[in-house]
Amino acid sequence: MFNENAYLLGAQRSCIRELFEYGRQRAAVVGAENVLDFSLGNPSQPCPQEVTEAIADIVANTDPVALHGYTPAIGALETRQAIADDLNERYDAGVDPADLFITCGAAPSLTAVFKALAAPGAEILAIAPFFPEYRPFAETAGLKFNIVPATSHKLKLSTLLVEQHLTPKTVAVIINNPNNPTGMVTKEKLLRPFADMLRRKSAEYGHPIYLISDEPYRELVYEDEVVPFLPKLYENTIVCYSYSKSLSLPGERIGYVYVPQAATDSRAIYTAIAGAARSMGHVCAPSLWQKVIARCARVRPALDLYDANRKKLFHTLAVIGYELARPQGAFYIFVRIPGGDPAAFLEKAKARDLLLVPGDDFGAPGYFRMCYCVEPEKVAKSLPILAELYRDAVDTL
Ligand code: PLP
Repeated sequence: MFNENAYLLGAQRSCIRELFEYGRQRAAVVGAENVLDFSLGNPSQPCPQEVTEAIADIVANTDPVALHGYTPAIGALETRQAIADDLNERYDAGVDPADLFITCGAAPSLTAVFKALAAPGAEILAIAPFFPEYRPFAETAGLKFNIVPATSHKLKLSTLLVEQHLTPKTVAVIINNPNNPTGMVTKEKLLRPFADMLRRKSAEYGHPIYLISDEPYRELVYEDEVVPFLPKLYENTIVCYSYSKSLSLPGERIGYVYVPQAATDSRAIYTAIAGAARSMGHVCAPSLWQKVIARCARVRPALDLYDANRKKLFHTLAVIGYELARPQGAFYIFVRIPGGDPAAFLEKAKARDLLLVPGDDFGAPGYFRMCYCVEPEKVAKSLPILAELYRDAVDTL
């Protein structure tokens, strides 16, 4: 006897992982340089020099017993203090180290928060297009997973549509800014009325609707774009953060949850998050990485490579005729598939070893996502193929 649901989750690989695996197999046959794999959001920039130096120094100069020992489950005070200082300097946010819970990245932050909020019958609302893992995370936590469908409204946040999909059982709405898969940044002028609506609906339902802000791409923004710090706009925000993308450390697993003191039942929610993490086997985040973050919380990513790829892709695809949202953050571009047959379009791309992720898993069929943290040569090689695919698709109309 075993858990059917767990089995199914283990047996079905995500479409992104599936494509990535396919890309590796093709690379063994045709050579890695000939596989144009835009599937996985694995940063291609090395981690910043400050991080490499911090690791070397910490390993050389820290007593190994202390270095590799357990830390408190909530994270070492020096780490939480460094993160609080950084957030307070940037956002004047009033963060106290006691409001932070150090995790092994955004995914464990999300699973702990979801589980902490999963009162019997509770529902969570995601806004398409969304990160596909939200669904298994939420459903495994026991939350009913509701979706605001993707609008043709240039995929921008629609307060009205979100309001229409809230129910008296909605305990949280999840938002991801900058967004995976669109790369779009939702600006303060859209978020203010959104926050007002959540306040009004919370009062109507007689319980808070928390806004879970999933922000692993917070620092990956271009052209002086500003990502609003949501706890400043909406008091019932819970922030899930990760250094996977901002410091190019996805395999190391380090991030945090921030529960602002102004949030309703702040301490109880924090305690439930700690309990939820405990129930899933969290003991503490890796001690070495906590020490690295204690030193490098203020370090920011180098964006030149991503930015060059972003500009090239966006401008060329727009000139070809593709319909797409302007990406201002993260390292994704989300493109409407031309012609009437998205599956055939994606298959043709795959046959040319151009690996594009279908929008279906993000809740937005009819689109593809490209993750552009790749070598610029791969972007250059992909463009004539994308031009040809476009012509073929519109010619068949
Ligand atoms: N949330 C979003 C929107 C992501 O894109 C990712 C990873 O790609 C995660 C969460 C998970 O990040 P982590 O590697 O920190 O668990």
